[in-house]
Amino acid sequence: DSKRRVRNGWQAFTPELAQRQQDRLQIETHLRRAADNDEFHLVYQPQVDLRQGRVIAAEALIRWENHQLGEMRPDLFISHAETTGDIVRIGGWVLREACRQVHEWREQGHGIIRVAINVSYRQFLAEDLAISVRDALAEFDLPGSALELEFTERVLIEDAPDTVNTFMALRELGVMLTIDDFGEGYSALNYVRRLPIHGLKLSQLFVQGVPDNQSDVAVCRAVAAIARSLGLGLVAEGVESEAQRQFLLQLGVPVGQGFLFAPGLAPDEFVHRLGRSPDFAHA
Ligand code: C2E
Ligand code: MG
Ligand code: MG
Ligand code: MG
Repeated sequence: DSKRRVRNGWQAFTPELAQRQQDRLQIETHLRRAADNDEFHLVYQPQVDLRQGRVIAAEALIRWENHQLGEMRPDLFISHAETTGDIVRIGGWVLREACRQVHEWREQGHGIIRVAINVSYRQFLAEDLAISVRDALAEFDLPGSALELEFTERVLIEDAPDTVNTFMALRELGVMLTIDDFGEGYSALNYVRRLPIHGLKLSQLFVQGVPDNQSDVAVCRAVAAIARSLGLGLVAEGVESEAQRQFLLQLGVPVGQGFLFAPGLAPDEFVHRLGRSPDFAHA
């Protein structure tokens, strides 16, 4: 076995490493063809008014079903797609599919439901997002207010020269701009006031621990205070329990998303949830 080890600081060749490289290649090969083969779909997770349970928007989450690999979660394949660059095409598909769905809901008489999509930083760099978004809205005859874009904290940190201009152009279209998983990655406080965004999404990393874990409580409190004092909207992610909902309400967090309300839903299930009476009419 030692004969197989590579000298000079190269990584040792082990069966596990070989397996991992094999897996990576397999994922990347299938990923390349996935869009053409129609293997992606979107599910829609409700964003809910924490007081009344009314659905006020949806987050579109991508799902990939491949005949050989089975059902692949985004946490497993988005990073590969970012490495290979496939994320740009996938992201374009997500944008158009979300707009198509909102259009279809409108045709069916459900009104215009705002849908949030996730935008990878790589995708943000690769294309003129304001143009793709403008075109997708026009294609499906939608106002900008039908769409929300969620960016990772990286867009704050990297502070690329064109970011502010792109955000301004998106804002002029009427599109909502949000920083996803806020608080997870970096200390973004210095940057968050520089970009013309509408809101933050409090990371589920911290929501999970409330109301018992005191440091999670402190982070949630701090993010809520930041959002309030900067005049930003705030959505709590990963709300799983009634105790969490109560705690967040007390903090003044208006909106939540999580398994307490619903997971990502197929379009017709989502519409069914929209029509149902709220979960906490008497809260
Ligand atoms: P995210 O944007 O922060 O989305 C929230 C994730 O948390 C989703 O996982 C959702 O299913 C999960 N979640 C929702 N409620 C709860 C809860 O109460 N408890 C727990 N434990 N989890 C909850 P999902 O769908 O597996 O997506 C994972 C990540 O993959 C997303 O995190 C996002 O960063 C990325 N992603 C998903 N769809 C897309 C996409 O279309 N484009 C890009 N670029 N990234 C995407
Ligand atoms: Mg998101
Ligand atoms: Mg998130
Ligand atoms: Mg996340």
